[in-house]
Amino acid sequence: MADSIQPQPGIMDIALYKGGASHLEGKHNVLKLSSNENPLGPSDAAKEAALRASHDLHRYPSTDHAALRSAISEIWHVDPARVFCGVGSGDVLKLLSEAYAGPGDEVVFTEHGFAMYPIYARACGATPVVVPENERVVDVDNILAACTPKTKLVFIANPANPTGTMIGSAEVKRLAMGLPPQAMLVLDGAYAEFVDGFDAGKALVEARDNVFMSRTFSKIYGLGGMRVGWGYGPQAVIDVLNRIRGPFNLSAPALAAAEAALRDTAHTEKCRVENAKWRDWLANALAELGVPSDTSTANFILARFADEAEADACDSHLRSEGIIVRKVAGYGLPHCLRITVGDESGCRRVAHAVAQFKGAL
Ligand SMILES: *Cc1c(COP(=O)(O)O)cnc(C)c1O
Repeated sequence: MADSIQPQPGIMDIALYKGGASHLEGKHNVLKLSSNENPLGPSDAAKEAALRASHDLHRYPSTDHAALRSAISEIWHVDPARVFCGVGSGDVLKLLSEAYAGPGDEVVFTEHGFAMYPIYARACGATPVVVPENERVVDVDNILAACTPKTKLVFIANPANPTGTMIGSAEVKRLAMGLPPQAMLVLDGAYAEFVDGFDAGKALVEARDNVFMSRTFSKIYGLGGMRVGWGYGPQAVIDVLNRIRGPFNLSAPALAAAEAALRDTAHTEKCRVENAKWRDWLANALAELGVPSDTSTANFILARFADEAEADACDSHLRSEGIIVRKVAGYGLPHCLRITVGDESGCRRVAHAVAQFKGAL
């Protein structure tokens, strides 16, 4: 191609995002624990809704997402006019970046923050600003110290990925209150539903005009393949996002499945309870084998090894046993492996393989 045809500045600085692997050469019965997917899968009601929607695939989908926004409002007690629906929450965060940050602006996130944040920042030509954490926990003072008159967006996931740690609502509020006036706090709540009774920042969104919350159907709802997410924020921000999204951004089966998943609260509750039970069981089992982790509030644990060599060796052993977990060296955690909480048999398989690796069997 002619050298005179060039992409926008920043785009060629992006390293391609690598998703969790799902295949191992020559292995059957592979256990994929690398993408924080729900081992119980989606609600049956969601699958049936997607199937029903397939009869009308010749029709364009809803453009205002009214039915899904209304269901979100009923379940989460939010104002449906201030709910925005996107193609996964990643799409919501990307549109926010495009709308509010550009060349010369800064987008702040923390050192072990979600790998997509620097990609969103660079894609819109903004400058990513990486802030240290405190022992794998988001540090509000460090974030506030990094803010400048150029800061437009501050991204934190709470619970955080890949650390699984959280900060409390008083800290989140202190962060929102301390930001410079031109900066918006974005609370990525991809794992919020795994925390019993957690409002994910909803009250703060309603109390302030500089806070936005994003949520997803990809994690507890088991609909990662459908690509549905949503955001809740100031009316002015929602109005901006609606101007730049595709008018038919969500497919009809995706909208139908998400609405049905949301209404099947019994399935969601079962997933939350099962996740907490087996997550804590797995964390204890690994700790007894000399592999500690921070208390996780999400659907994965961040297993810590002595060093990078041991983490790599354990990863190789797990692979030889048909188990795929996530290496997180790219997140500044080369001595760790992020392990999604599977179902009971999945967790037992991981514990057994780690015990073999540690020579405990
Ligand atoms: C998985 C995840 C998301 C969700 O992405 P989707 O686009 O909704 O599938 C967002 N943020 C974090 C931190 C995640 O781990």
